[in-house]
Amino acid sequence: GNLPPFNNEAMVDFTRADHRAAFPKTIAEVRKQLGKTYPLFINGKEVKTGDTIPSVNPNQPSETVGVVCQAGTKEVGDAIAAAKGAFPAWRDTDIKVRAEYLVKAAAVARRRIFELSAWQVLEIGKQWDQAYADVCEAIDFLEYYAREMITLGSPKRIGHAPGELNHYFYEPKGVAAVISPWNFPLAISMGMVSAAIVAGNCVVFKPSGLTSVIGYHIVELFREVGLPDGVFNYTPGRGSVMGDYLVDSPDISLIAFTGSMEVGLRIIERAAKVYPGQENVKKIVCEMGGKNAIIIDDDADLDEAVPHVLYSAFGFQGQKCSACSRVIVLDAVYDKFVERLVSMAQATLVGPSEDPAHYMGAVADDKAMKTIKEYAEIGKKEGHVLYESKVPSDSGYYVPMTIIGGIKPEHRIAQEEIFGPVLAVMRAKDFDQAIAWANSTKFALTGGVFSRSPEHLAQARKEFRVGNLYLNRNNTGALVGRQPFGGSKMSGVGTKAGGHDYLLHFMDPRVVTENT
Ligand code: GLU
Repeated sequence: GNLPPFNNEAMVDFTRADHRAAFPKTIAEVRKQLGKTYPLFINGKEVKTGDTIPSVNPNQPSETVGVVCQAGTKEVGDAIAAAKGAFPAWRDTDIKVRAEYLVKAAAVARRRIFELSAWQVLEIGKQWDQAYADVCEAIDFLEYYAREMITLGSPKRIGHAPGELNHYFYEPKGVAAVISPWNFPLAISMGMVSAAIVAGNCVVFKPSGLTSVIGYHIVELFREVGLPDGVFNYTPGRGSVMGDYLVDSPDISLIAFTGSMEVGLRIIERAAKVYPGQENVKKIVCEMGGKNAIIIDDDADLDEAVPHVLYSAFGFQGQKCSACSRVIVLDAVYDKFVERLVSMAQATLVGPSEDPAHYMGAVADDKAMKTIKEYAEIGKKEGHVLYESKVPSDSGYYVPMTIIGGIKPEHRIAQEEIFGPVLAVMRAKDFDQAIAWANSTKFALTGGVFSRSPEHLAQARKEFRVGNLYLNRNNTGALVGRQPFGGSKMSGVGTKAGGHDYLLHFMDPRVVTENT
């Protein structure tokens, strides 16, 4: 039948007693399931390997969330072969049927929403609301791309010359490698996977090693709805062992990647090489980092700006590529803004994310903890500490919430992506300088402006060149269908997840002309 119009999944509502109660209850239930071994999933079958790695709770690293089998080149080869084998039938499957699998998977995720959230609280340390939002976004991608594909699916008649019939339509590319990050472990993975699948491609999915248990839930969702064998294959693995093999394979036609700039650029470079037997030029859908700024104009409403900046910078420990890592404050309000930002930061607590009293929890792993601490030290030399929080003394991967003042555009912490809770505060002499500084990094992902001046807001629309610009609100939490997400420059190749154009990157257009 026809699908109702797309609507974003409703957010968790903590004014409801049942929603409040659901988290501790579900986290306790999920905790009883920790420590299981997770197989690969290739051609509809579970595959165990000898090489495994544990995935741990970053707030409590002695707690093993799951032990995950690691694909080597043999298993990746098998998965690619399975996807290739399944491709012709899947390509020729009615688009409405393909879309239906997504809508059904969305229904399963909706039924399991608290459980899928609880896994994220434990495997990657999301706060309750952050985890729930991630599952909502995954559901949104499924529902949205299902509808988009149905719209794109009917051939369009084009041109109006008499005696000629032209039809423009799209076909899938073939086997897609999907390589996803840990920070939106269900949403971003599901977004790339579901786009590839509904467009008619078959997928070899490599989740991040830090969130492979959540990645396995995608297997469960698609199994429950009976997606044909080989259309979706799950192959977690060590990048150093199987990453290049996957990217280099002549049978891969498309690579959808979200992660760091270093890895993204490396994929683009490797994927340019054509190997014997390769039919297609590899298409790369690539989302990379950010060094996002929020500008505080001299007439900004600070009641709004302060909590929005705090949330943009420190929500989920600043581990979003959309996160605010620079706040550029006009001289006239600098002291007032900083005083209020610091006093609000002082009122927050850092600790395990499963307790909602904590504004911030542990960061992803020990490596992230080390890098972020190094950047905090660099920042302390480049500028001066405005605020540094306490952290719990237990073994979690904690770094303090850190706010550093006196930062100039040429400083490293004004240019390099930190991916953690370190915020640089910069004092600009006027709005023109603030815009120039905002644009002065190699990235162009998100940005924000708090201002009451219509002229300045209009200027920012034109001149603040980022993929997602937010005026008078926080700059994280883009919603599917409302804020299609992604940037340009070194932030990505301009594909917009959750937007109208996104599926086009997963297909080849064709035209058939008939002389009538
Ligand atoms: N879409 C997310 C947001 O708007 C960020 C995605 C990412 O970090 O990769 O906050």
